Amino acid sequence: MLNQTVIEEIKTRNNIEDVISSYVRLSRAGKDLKGLCPFHSEKTPSFHVHPAEGYFHCFGCGAGGDVITFVMRAENLAYPEALEYLAKRAGINLPLDYKDGRKGEVDRSTVTAMNKEAARYFHACLMDEKTPAGLEYLQKKRGFSTALIRRFGLGYAPGGWGLCNHLKAKGYSYEQMMAANLVLKSTKRENSYYDVFRDRVMVPIFDPAGNVVAFGGRLLGDGQPKYLNSSETAAFRKSKTLFALNFAKDYCAERMILCEGYMDAMALHGAGFPSAVATLGTAITSEHARVMSRYTKSVVICYDTDEAGQKAADKAFRVLSEVGLEARILRVEGAKDPDEFIKKSGAPAFARLIDKSKSRFEFKLEKIFSKYDVATVDGKIKALDEISALIAEFPSSVERELYIAAVSKKLEVAQKALTEDVERILRKNRSRQKRAYSEEILRKTEGYADRVNPQVMGNVASARAEEAILGILLLREDVAQRALKEGLLYPELFVTDFNKRVFSRIAELTAEGQTPDTGLLGAYFTPEEMGRIVEMRLARSTLTDNGYAVLTTCVDRLKNGEKKSENSPEDIRAIIEKKRKGR
Ligand SMILES: [Zn+2]
Repeated sequence: MLNQTVIEEIKTRNNIEDVISSYVRLSRAGKDLKGLCPFHSEKTPSFHVHPAEGYFHCFGCGAGGDVITFVMRAENLAYPEALEYLAKRAGINLPLDYKDGRKGEVDRSTVTAMNKEAARYFHACLMDEKTPAGLEYLQKKRGFSTALIRRFGLGYAPGGWGLCNHLKAKGYSYEQMMAANLVLKSTKRENSYYDVFRDRVMVPIFDPAGNVVAFGGRLLGDGQPKYLNSSETAAFRKSKTLFALNFAKDYCAERMILCEGYMDAMALHGAGFPSAVATLGTAITSEHARVMSRYTKSVVICYDTDEAGQKAADKAFRVLSEVGLEARILRVEGAKDPDEFIKKSGAPAFARLIDKSKSRFEFKLEKIFSKYDVATVDGKIKALDEISALIAEFPSSVERELYIAAVSKKLEVAQKALTEDVERILRKNRSRQKRAYSEEILRKTEGYADRVNPQVMGNVASARAEEAILGILLLREDVAQRALKEGLLYPELFVTDFNKRVFSRIAELTAEGQTPDTGLLGAYFTPEEMGRIVEMRLARSTLTDNGYAVLTTCVDRLKNGEKKSENSPEDIRAIIEKKRKGR
């Protein structure tokens, strides 16, 4: 493990404000900064950065930590990889042997190196005359040029033991291959392994930096499943990976095209639309949307024309607007998908479709008008009902006003009447949201959602005393040293396992002469747990008295505490609700 000096150096040279600013738009709030949380969906900012102390914390979802924790979460990295990432960012050279503590684990860089080797093997098979099926499919069925095939590094997986043997020869173990999801263990024969991808056209999936993080495979013969993607690994998370972003990122500052699948995205790149990306066998998530918002301002959704595609497009609209992206929808006319359209009508016609793409409001309005005959009174009333509900979905009042004006003119109804309808729906939605929120609080107070420390439930008073102790230890090195030297604190004192674990780690680090700073603790706790640890420290830092006397009081409370008197669930609910309101 790295020593404290190097970690300190990494943290000092990676200013938390700078690092987080490249992910989140931050605005000043007193001595702190705030913005929309990148780890949960929200409309009002509850994500705070405290530059002076080097911490971030979200009051909405409890995420928190230092710059290292932030990078772990934002880039989906393990602790040592996050250090590596930040060291690289600041131009610090890390000692080569620092990874020694992690033997046996298969990390992200091993997976991507192995994937790169596999991609080379698949590509060689594609070009091999002995196995022509893959190339034939790509050229004849898909109309892909050799240049396109090379650019995307496409390949062919013949199956059997080809890849197994190839990777074995390159020095990889079967455990590593299984961790990368490239190889499976036979259930019939002992110590026998075989390739996951067989008789498939192989599409490497790159991260924005160009590492191969996973594969998609399209079956050539009959059988199921037609499309098979790598399962999640240390290097691959479906819910935030976008296919072709490594290429699109240089062309999409103004506009990005979102397709349903990688075949569509590649067809668009081939036709001269290099800003196309695709999700991988899943609907778009808010994580995807947040990734996109780092590269572009506006997204054109270009899904299949069937009903499933249109439903998915509507969801994409919502998810994209929630992160502040301008979303538009492109309707392919006379073809089932963009690929077929371009083959029939050509690239210039497709470019015109992009320019004609519609906003969500225009798109939905068109649908409503096609459903009802607004020349009749009955049709008009029904259409207006749906239109009011649609307008109420837009968070901006300016936008709502503009739509109300446009619709009332078009349908010849009084603007005031339509405004009242929309207001009524808004009020109804708000009270529904409020109800959902208080239900969530209740659920949390019942302990279901406290994944970090489930034992808080039933031990509220003790847990609070423990949190106060830990907060002080993290904040006041001098007090910590004295308390540990005098034997005031010891692990058995702690009632909840999580807090006991935090304490033991702090005590160990202090005994080794190191400062139990979050940079060092990050190696032993998950980002979620780090959020709680930072919360404890921040809670104390807003109070003036964090001296030895407070520690003694807390210790007394733990010793004589609630072992005698258990709190009733009602008490717990009241206490936690009070605590939440106090924030
Ligand atoms: Zn959050």
